[in-house]
Order: sequence, then structure tokens, then C-alpha cells
Amino acid sequence: MGIKVAKFGGSSLADENQFRKVKKIVEADPDRRYIVPSAPGKRFSDDIKITDLLYRCYDMAKSGENFEKEFSLIEKRYNDIISALSLSLSLEDDFTEIKSALRAKVGRDYAASRGEYLNGKILAEYLGYTFIDAAEVIFFDENGKFAAEHTNYVLSERLKRTERAVIPGFYGISANDTIKTFSRGGSDITGAIVAKAARADLYENWTDVSGFLCADPRIVKNPRPIGIITYRELRELSYMGATVLHEEAIFPVKSEGIPINIRNTNKPEDCGTMIVASVSTMRTDDENQNIITGIAGKKNFSVITLEKDRMNEEVGFGRRVLEVLEHHNVCFEHLPSGIDTMSVIVDDSLFSKDKNEIISDLFDETGADSIDVESGIALIAVAGHGMKNMRGTAAKIFTALADANINIRMIDQGSSELNIIIGVNNDDFEESIRTIYGAFEN
Ligand code: ADP
Ligand code: ASP
Ligand code: MG
Repeated sequence: MGIKVAKFGGSSLADENQFRKVKKIVEADPDRRYIVPSAPGKRFSDDIKITDLLYRCYDMAKSGENFEKEFSLIEKRYNDIISALSLSLSLEDDFTEIKSALRAKVGRDYAASRGEYLNGKILAEYLGYTFIDAAEVIFFDENGKFAAEHTNYVLSERLKRTERAVIPGFYGISANDTIKTFSRGGSDITGAIVAKAARADLYENWTDVSGFLCADPRIVKNPRPIGIITYRELRELSYMGATVLHEEAIFPVKSEGIPINIRNTNKPEDCGTMIVASVSTMRTDDENQNIITGIAGKKNFSVITLEKDRMNEEVGFGRRVLEVLEHHNVCFEHLPSGIDTMSVIVDDSLFSKDKNEIISDLFDETGADSIDVESGIALIAVAGHGMKNMRGTAAKIFTALADANINIRMIDQGSSELNIIIGVNNDDFEESIRTIYGAFEN
């Protein structure tokens, strides 16, 4: 018998009907032994995710407001699922404990984590699986970093002793014994960690789309589905905003060579997307025709451009620029450079807080003749292994954007030739993605 780890996202567990679909999927394959649930997500477009309700309760409790009404919405959602599925489980004691913890002003992460914790209890009961609290098996170190080795040791020992289990996603325990969460969407990471510890044959990530699409379906209508994609291509796209899978979820499984399969809970008959180490032998001829694998992007970056005569002869110029950013805790995204100019692309949310100090430090440390900052830039990544063997990919992108009257603010092509990054104004973001998609796919 093989082992599959199945992670179900928030929309896959949003109400009792979704729970029924999940049970059917789990029972259809006895290899699906370890299940990682998210908290209930949206049931309709303006619904509120349980995680967001919990953050709201936390904020209210922190400012001394009465959060009972908000919390009763959470209780009702879980109780509705429990009664519709005729489970004998009661979460009343948990609700009481969480409310008193909120009143005692426990941590924000603790509050958010209860969404997955409670949902995990319900799902374990419904499936007849053992419930393993993630706080007993997922660890963070004293610096708040995920403790990969310790977790893998403890979790794999625990799974060896447990035939079938539900392990809630999103959180673990930190060195000072408090609950800590990954960043938003982090249940995908838990799923990957469990897959590694279980030495799974496959990590299934069940969501509300039939796999990874060539572009964000909220921007491009009916984008082409991607049958198979490499870890590296996916990492480029998910880092650049294709939010289907958390960008950090790739590392635990990549190192073990465990493939990821993105699947649709609402259409389990679809094969979804396989994410693997190398595609050369696995892609169909049709798929090999595709020059690009996908397009993704994010808004709100700044381009800092430094100009200095004879910059090219100055040893250590780049290091001094990056040291200033490091000092202000700002990481850089890209570094396109010319002979006497160097640009650094940074995330606005990190840069804008210390903007004036950073610019003044950059003048002091580098003696630049001028420093120019352009904000409100969106970055778009066009990724694909096929670009390496194909001339004219960049030209095709630029011509399409020029024809659409879109001004390109920045261009950067990674040396791996796996992707081309383009900067455009935030306002041109959606239109640029549609234009690039049209140039390759129509
Ligand atoms: P879950 O709650 O299951 O974790 P997410 O909402 O995190 O699901 O991710 C799935 C969503 O990602 C889809 O509903 C879709 O709107 C969005 N998305 C963004 N980019 C893409 C893409 N390239 N392919 C497919 N879905 C995408
Ligand atoms: N429930 C958490 C969130 O909304 C984690 C997750 O869904 O993966 O971000
Ligand atoms: Mg998600």
C-alpha cells in the first residue's frame, strides 16, 4: 500500500456539503492516510473566512471590545457542520476555552490557529481518523523559524505509530510553548511537511480549481490548464503571485522528490496539475509546444535607480547598496543594471516605511550622483523551460505590450532563462497579463 497526504483548502471544507465531498474523495483511495485541513473558507463570494473572523475577534478582544457576537458566527458555522453531518462531537468546551483565552489576550497566532484546530477535530471524527494536534508535531525555533529537522523527527515517529490521521494545517508550537502560525495560506506548507515525514508517494493539494492554470483565472478568462510543471517553474509563479499553492510549500517535498498534485474537490474526476522535478520525458508533445508555462504577477513594488559616473569601475558599489537595504531589513527582488546605473526593485510594503532614511543612507554610502524612486510598479513573471530553446520570446512579449500601448518600466531576464520579469504601472497590471497571455495562447 502506498501513502498519500491530502491537504484540503478552506473552500473544500466550507460547509457540510464540502465535507461530504471530502469524505468521498478520502474513501475512494485507501492510500489517503494523512489528511491536512484548512479552516472553513468562503461559501459564497462575500462570505467571511473563519480565519478572518478569528483575527477580528482577536483585534476586538485586544482593544477591550465585546467579541461575543463575532465569535457566535464562528460557533454557528462549526455547529451547523456538526449537526448536518449528525456527528456526536461537541466543541462547546473548546469554544469556552478559546473565548477565555481571547479575553486573557492570548497571541494573535493562537487565535487564528483555532480555525484549523477545530476543523481538524470535526474532520477526524467524520472520517474516523486519529486527530493529531499540530502543536505536538510541528515546531518553530527560538527565532520563530520553522524547525525542519526536529519536526521531521517527531512527526515521522508519530506517523509510524498512526495508521490514519488528520493533522490541522497552518500552525505549530514555538520554543516558548506558544502557538505560532505560518503566513496566510500556510496549510499548504503543513501538507508538504506531513508528506515529507510520512515519506509519501504523493502530496495531493485539493482546492477549488482543476490545477494550476497558465494565468490567474480572476484576470484571464478560462486560461489553459497546466498538466505538468516543474518545482522550479511553480516556485517562480507562486512567488510571483499565483496563489494556488503557498510559495514555501515546495521545499519539504522537493528535497524528497515527492510529486505534488493539485486537484479540484468539486471536480475530482479531473487529473489536475502534477508538479515534479523534471518534465522533459513526461510532457506530452502538445505540452512541449508551449513556449511558456505560466504568467503571474504582483503589484506594489518600487524601483530605486542609482546613477553614478564610472560606477562600473568601482569595486564594491553593489555590495554597499545591498548593505544599506539589509540594514533596513528590506530584501530585494531584482537588480537590473547598466554601465553607470543600477536599479533595485523592492517591495513597497517593506520600503515605504523607511524610504527617506534609506535614500539618505544610499547617498552617504555610495556617493551616487542621483537616486530616483518610482513606486506603484507591478511585476509580471513569464515562466517556462521552453523559453530556453525558443528565440524571440522576449520580443514577442514586448511587441504585444507595445501594440497594446502599455509602457514597460523594467525588464529583467534571469540567467536560468526560466523566466522574464517585466515591470509595468500598477494600473496596467491586469491588461498586461491579458495581453501577454493572448500573444502566446491565441
Ligand atoms: P485553498 O483555499 O484551497 O487553499 P486558494 O484560494 O489558496 O485555495 O487557491 C486557489 C485559488 O487560487 C483559485 O481559486 C484561484 O482563484 C487562484 N489562482 C491564482 N492564480 C491561479 C492560477 N495561475 N491557477 C489557478 N488558480 C489561481
Ligand atoms: N486558514 C489560513 C488562512 O486563511 C491558512 C490556510 O488556509 O492555508 O490563511
Ligand atoms: Mg491556499
